Amino acid sequence: MKIAIIGTGYVGLITGTGLSSFGIDVTCVDTDKNKIELLNSGKLPIYEPQLEDLVQNNVKEGRLRFTGDLENVIRDNNVIFIAVGTPSNADGSTNLSGVRGAAKSIGENLNGYKLVVNKSTVPVGTGRFVHKIIEEYSDGLYEVEVASNPEFLREGAAVRDFFHPNRIVLGTSSEKALSVLTDIYRPLYLLETPFIKTNVETAELIKYAANSFLATKISFINEMANICSRTGANIADVSEALGLDQRIGKKFLHAGIGFGGSCFPKDLRSLVKQADSVGYDFILGKGVIEVNENQRRYAFKRIFDTFEGNLKGKIIAILGAAFKPETDDIRESPAMYLANKLLISQAIVRMYDPKALDNAKAVLPEIICTSNSYEAAEGADAVVLATEWNQFRHLDMHHLKSSMKGNLFFDFRNVYARQKAEDAELEYFAIGK
Ligand code: NAD
Repeated sequence: MKIAIIGTGYVGLITGTGLSSFGIDVTCVDTDKNKIELLNSGKLPIYEPQLEDLVQNNVKEGRLRFTGDLENVIRDNNVIFIAVGTPSNADGSTNLSGVRGAAKSIGENLNGYKLVVNKSTVPVGTGRFVHKIIEEYSDGLYEVEVASNPEFLREGAAVRDFFHPNRIVLGTSSEKALSVLTDIYRPLYLLETPFIKTNVETAELIKYAANSFLATKISFINEMANICSRTGANIADVSEALGLDQRIGKKFLHAGIGFGGSCFPKDLRSLVKQADSVGYDFILGKGVIEVNENQRRYAFKRIFDTFEGNLKGKIIAILGAAFKPETDDIRESPAMYLANKLLISQAIVRMYDPKALDNAKAVLPEIICTSNSYEAAEGADAVVLATEWNQFRHLDMHHLKSSMKGNLFFDFRNVYARQKAEDAELEYFAIGK
């Protein structure tokens, strides 16, 4: 079995590497020459736990390679996964230019039957759109099928998620396509992973439904936290009690400054737009987005108000840049939102993140990068915990306080008990408690 993966980002690289671990011959292709050069020199363009060894082993064993030669890769492979980025347009709809580009390249280089598998998160109906473009550029000379196999991996746990997914979703329009895909994922089937076999449109929607639901849980608990902070209730206890209800479950019930990343925000915006385009007002989705955007605004306002609206020259240490722990991804990160707002208010921002500092500095060159939490806190008027990396869970509060000039500690991920911070004479602010 031979497979090509178009797009070698978080999803393409992990899928390609994972599939090659199943013994499949995989070629990953990307238009970004730097990325391909880096990979071919044995380095990874992203940080993801356990990935480096896995890539190196599969490359060494000759089952995994990287190239920029799209034309030959398409000609040489009959199964082609599309895993390109699908960011938001300014109006919230999905920008399909990467998908369109990939489909055009496939059409232009078609030399026989191909099964094209959409792994990118794409609006319902994109399977048909991809098929149409391929036919357009190949003059309909060869048979092409387009399937949907959405990805559910979590950055930071992506390798584990690839090998132990909760389910595999296969959206196909023929027995032939279904049988090829089932064969590809057979090692997971043997591990009793549930397979959802459905049509292309349903598979496409499942991905948006999953992300929207998870985002809804986060916005829900953040609203509860906001009610707590106005009533004297404690969100930690509310979350715990809610989570123990087995119908609800514990996950995604941690109040904080809201979700970010390359998926939840854009996928929700996209689903709102998709619903709109078929005449349906996705009221809940709009609310989830609004709550999430407000949550980071409230967090900034909390800092702003504490300094009585004058942040000029104030030194603020931000712990965390990534949108969540165990990744270097800063796309739509609440931590980066705060850093930007603080810089606009003329504060001096010192930052530490175990993996995402280079990415943060590339976007906000004014931030002062530091090599650990205590160095970030040096001379700071306030420390803001913005991403709940494990490294930030056991900070020595006395050490932190002794590094600082001021005494404000904004725990925007609700990691600490108030008493622990107050014992070190820090003034403690959290979300909903
Ligand atoms: P990414 O931005 O990290 O990578 C996309 C890659 O595609 C880039 O390297 C880019 O150069 C390449 N590319 C774009 N157009 C191309 C083309 N025409 N030909 C060849 N290469 C091209 O994106 P990602 O985070 O891997 O996400 C990819 C898709 O998977 C998106 O639709 C995303 O919503 C979805 N997804 C992402 C995650 C995640 O956690 N990152 C999880 C599940 C699903």
